Amino acid sequence: MAAPPPIPREVRRLGVHAVRIVWQDDHQAEYGNRYLRDNCPCAECRENPRRTLPIVGQEEEVYPVQIAAVGRYAISVQWSDGHDTGIYSYKTLREICPCAACVG
Ligand SMILES: [Zn+2]
Ligand SMILES: [Zn+2]
Repeated sequence: MAAPPPIPREVRRLGVHAVRIVWQDDHQAEYGNRYLRDNCPCAECRENPRRTLPIVGQEEEVYPVQIAAVGRYAISVQWSDGHDTGIYSYKTLREICPCAACVG
């Protein structure tokens, strides 16, 4: 039996630096904004990696201005440059968790 999909207990924007997610199982991680954006799952970003990113030197300024729940399985992120088509499933977020325990 596969484990049920993880669900965040808390999703918090940490200003221009990162997004923190605390999962229901107490697992906790901070996703750097750049990292999160690099992993944007929308078709546009997947087909044209990095194309939607601002020019070099400004990438640090891209941060989420709004994060909204999508059903019970995902969140959508609206970025400061207007990009808002990425829907990050909780499953994906957990898979790309950058914490020391998950990365190894
Ligand atoms: Zn995207
Ligand atoms: Zn982790």
